Parts: sequence; structure tokens; C-alpha cells
Amino acid sequence: MNEDPIDRSGLSRRFWEHKPLTRMTQREWEALCDGCGKCCLNKLEDEDTGTVALTRIACRLLDDATCRCAQYDIRHQFVPECIVLKPENLDSHAYWMPETCAYRLLWEGKPLFDWHPLISGTPESVHEAGVSVRGWTLPEFEIPEEEWEDHIIEEPT
Ligand code: SF4
Ligand code: SF4
Repeated sequence: MNEDPIDRSGLSRRFWEHKPLTRMTQREWEALCDGCGKCCLNKLEDEDTGTVALTRIACRLLDDATCRCAQYDIRHQFVPECIVLKPENLDSHAYWMPETCAYRLLWEGKPLFDWHPLISGTPESVHEAGVSVRGWTLPEFEIPEEEWEDHIIEEPT
């Protein structure tokens, strides 16, 4: 499972350190995703406080062995609400994104972790660092929504 589904070849060295998110090419933007899969876990948001709790209940399309969307290109046919993250909408989504997500880190002005595939050179490093969802999610179709509260977790960081 070493093959990286994201093409990170030929990009400028450490481009994210000198290029603003809004100036990145599409390939650079896509390459920022570390493949952790944590954004595909269901969250519970408290409408009064705005607090977001993460659960181990995964979107129906998440493959928790690869931590990838099983139908990424046509996912909106099955999950119309899935967000298409872009520089223009990052401001309104960063608050619920995982703390280790590269988009959120850069939006907050923070550096990427050494286990990021752009730095380590391998997509396996995100799993080896224990920050991905590999092997521990529950599929949403098996758990009634009223029970999701019982599956709230701390984000693995
Ligand atoms: S949380 Fe961020 S880095 Fe992880 S899979 Fe989602 S978009 Fe990619
Ligand atoms: S549709 Fe795919 S990309 Fe969107 S949340 Fe589900 S698994 Fe993740």
C-alpha cells in the first residue's frame, strides 16, 4: 500500500512555505492533502456553542484501509453534501477541519509535520505516525445517527 494516489512529483521544493494558498496551482493544492481521512469522519456540532466533536463514524464512502474516498470523482452522486475545499471557502471550513490537516495548518500560519508525504516522500508516513483513520472507523450505515454521540473520540494527533 505504498503507492501514493496523489501525484506529488515535480512540484517546487517546499512550495507551501513561500506560496500563499490562494496562489497555488491545482496540483499544489491537491498535493497538500496528507491522506489521513479524518475529514471524512462525521462530526457533531453544538449549535449553541459551535463546538465540534469528532466521531469514529465514517462517511459511507470512506475506505478505512486506504483512508481514501472510494468514489472520489463521482462522490457527489452519493454524498451531495461533501465539501469541495478551495482557497475561497477555507475561511468558513477551517474551524471544523482536523487539527493536523495541512490546509488548516497553513491557514493558521503553522508548518506541516515531518510525517506529511510532501516532506517524508511516502504516503505511509501519515499512517506510521498514527494520525490517520486507518483501521479504526465504524461505517455510518451500521450506527443509527442518534447513537453517534456514543462514538465521540479525541482526534489522533
Ligand atoms: S483532513 Fe485534510 S489532510 Fe487529512 S484527508 Fe482531509 S483534507 Fe486531506
Ligand atoms: S464522499 Fe468521499 S471525500 Fe466526501 S466525506 Fe465521504 S469519503 Fe470523504
